[in-house]
Amino acid sequence: MSRLAENFQQIRSRMAEAARRAGRDPSAVELVAVSKTFPAEVVREAAAEHDLFGESRVQEALAKIPECPSRLRWHFIGHLQSNKVRKVLPHFEAIHSVDSLELARDISRVAQEEGCRPSLYLQVNVSGEGRKFGFSPEALRACWEEVLELERLSILGLMTIPPLAREPEAARPHFAALRELADELAAHAGLPALGLSMGMSGDFEIAIEEGSTIVRVGSALFGARRSQLTRRAAAE
Ligand SMILES: *Cc1c(COP(=O)(O)O)cnc(C)c1O
Repeated sequence: MSRLAENFQQIRSRMAEAARRAGRDPSAVELVAVSKTFPAEVVREAAAEHDLFGESRVQEALAKIPECPSRLRWHFIGHLQSNKVRKVLPHFEAIHSVDSLELARDISRVAQEEGCRPSLYLQVNVSGEGRKFGFSPEALRACWEEVLELERLSILGLMTIPPLAREPEAARPHFAALRELADELAAHAGLPALGLSMGMSGDFEIAIEEGSTIVRVGSALFGARRSQLTRRAAAE
C-alpha cells in the first residue's frame, strides 16, 4: 500500500475510534482532506482514496481543481474576500470560513444573481484571539436572525480554529464552546442540530469527542507543508 493510502486508512480509523469513545456513529463525521500547497499530482493520487478536498487560497485552488478528476468535491476553508465570491462559488460544494455578516450578505447577493444555493459554515472566533478571523459569539448571536433570513444560503453550521497549542487537549474547551453555541443558536431558530466544522491534524480526535461533524485534516495525510518546515527549522 502507498504511504498516502496508509495515511488515509490510519486517519479514518483514528476518527472512527474517537467517535466510538464518545458514543457517536463514526459515519456521522466527514473528512475534508486539506490539499493546500500540495500540487494537483498529489490530489490525483489521493483521489484513489478519497473524494472530498479542502483548499484555502482562491488562486491556487482555481488552478488546481481543473487538473483533478471532475468527480472530486471541494470545500473552501480559507479567508474569502468579497470580490472573489463569484469566482469561488461554482467550484466549491461548501465554504467553511464565512467570517463576517458582510461576507454572508455578499455571498447571498451573488447567489441570487447566479441562481445557486451555497452551503456555508460560519466561522466563530471562540477564544477571542485578536488576530483571528471570525464572528465573536456575541456578534453571531446578535446577527443570527438576519443571517438566517439572507436569501439562498444554506447554513450548515459553525466552524472554528482553536489557538495554536502544544497540547491537543488545550483545544477541548474551544470545541465544547462552539458546540454549546451551535446548540443555543439551533434551539433559538427551532432548527435541528447544526454541523460543526472543527478539528485539524493535531486535534481532530478531541474535536470528534466534542461533537465535530466534519474535520479538516491536511498535514497528517499529506505531510508537513513547506511553511511548517520553515517554521520548524527556524525554531531549532
Ligand atoms: C491548513 C488548514 C487546515 C489543515 O491543517 P493541518 O494542521 O495540516 O491538518 C485545516 N483548517 C484550515 C482552516 C486550514 O487553513
